[in-house]
Amino acid sequence: MRDPSADGPPIAVGPTCPLCHVTGAVAEPAIGLPAQVVALVAVNTPGWRPDFGLCRECAERFAGALAALSAHEDSFAAGSILPTPVRLGAPDRYRGRGVTIAFLDSGFYAHPDLVEPRDRILKYVDITNPGARAEVLKRPDASSWHGMMTSVVACGNGRLSGGLYRGIASEADLVLVKCGSMRRIKHDDIRRGLDWVVRNRRRYGIRIVNVSCGGDYEASYLKDALSQAAERAAREGLLVCAAAGNAGHLPGHPVLPPASAPSVLTVGGLDDQNRLAFSAYGMYHSSYGPTVDGLQKPEVIAPGIWVPAPILPGTPTADQAELLSRLEDAPDDTLRATLAAQPGVDTDLDAALAADLSFLRQLVALKIRSHNVISGAYKHVDGTSFAAPIVSSVAAVMLEANPSLQPVELKRLLVGTARRIAGIDADRQGWGAVDAARAVAAAGAQTRPRQRGRA
Ligand SMILES: [Zn+2]
Repeated sequence: MRDPSADGPPIAVGPTCPLCHVTGAVAEPAIGLPAQVVALVAVNTPGWRPDFGLCRECAERFAGALAALSAHEDSFAAGSILPTPVRLGAPDRYRGRGVTIAFLDSGFYAHPDLVEPRDRILKYVDITNPGARAEVLKRPDASSWHGMMTSVVACGNGRLSGGLYRGIASEADLVLVKCGSMRRIKHDDIRRGLDWVVRNRRRYGIRIVNVSCGGDYEASYLKDALSQAAERAAREGLLVCAAAGNAGHLPGHPVLPPASAPSVLTVGGLDDQNRLAFSAYGMYHSSYGPTVDGLQKPEVIAPGIWVPAPILPGTPTADQAELLSRLEDAPDDTLRATLAAQPGVDTDLDAALAADLSFLRQLVALKIRSHNVISGAYKHVDGTSFAAPIVSSVAAVMLEANPSLQPVELKRLLVGTARRIAGIDADRQGWGAVDAARAVAAAGAQTRPRQRGRA
């Protein structure tokens, strides 16, 4: 298509794109787009009509989302929780190959999405117990939950969902650094975890450190040892990606170390309403600055709610989710038998065994909603603990596209390609929502010579 501006001033400029509201994004009529793309736009954008049009970038984004979702037609129904790569428009060709992300968290689990068909966990270390061995990763423990979710959100390959709920860096390698337990992660143990990563970065090819845990108190990076460890990590070539925290609704909404350190890429929470249209986006109650040093945090936001995450296998939660999703799929004539075959998993359901079918169906639907169940193996979760690994995974695919990028460049490109969300204070969203499509394109463009120079 010819660029009308090439011949002089634009003849006609349409109104701003009703989907993304990006300055300069001109809406074009939705003519010529496949009907399924138009339908996907309509489903995601209440009040939109084809004659309102959309910009070219949005049209491409929805076409990409349709292609990704139609590969999973059997398992993905309209209204289901959207997979993370689709939400962020992540290009399918990059999966974080050749990049290692280190995760600092309360505990971990060797989830099938990380270890099948290839075990991508290069190393497990327990800062609080140097004698701990990687075998503990096979044991579901209450402390395993959080780090299992953060690592799989970024790097899971969606094995237990036929690939549908993969993370953006689904072929990246991982180093798992346990810094505490579900009850407590100490300020100084996060510092020791960061120091361990700096010492071992070359050995495992670590380029990114994800920190979905915060210190115990606010502190100036000029004095605080944890903040200084994060600064040191950045100087040593690591991108430190930290969760802003979930205290945006509290007075002071404090940002704790290491998220408060200047070189850290701090991630707040976007509420995308489980929709693909920017016009519907809102803010999660994530913490924000200024920090005690007067720094504005976070730099960017990423989905902090509706995030698909794994359920820890071998737990009562897993049994319940498995039963609920089996009941949801069961036809009327086998519903009761399906439930009767698994007594003791859910006492409410057991008690409803003799009730009429419509009541039982309602109870199943209610439980699926209230427990955030997606399937027997996944649920959706919220918190900036999940927004940070999403950004870590985007950084990993940027590094696959361009391995020469340094942390400061990664940060600049992620910030520069983020999209400001209309109606939300800059204090809370920083530079806006991370856009994987744009960030990866910008990363790739850094090495290549100009491809479309003006004649
Ligand atoms: Zn648009």
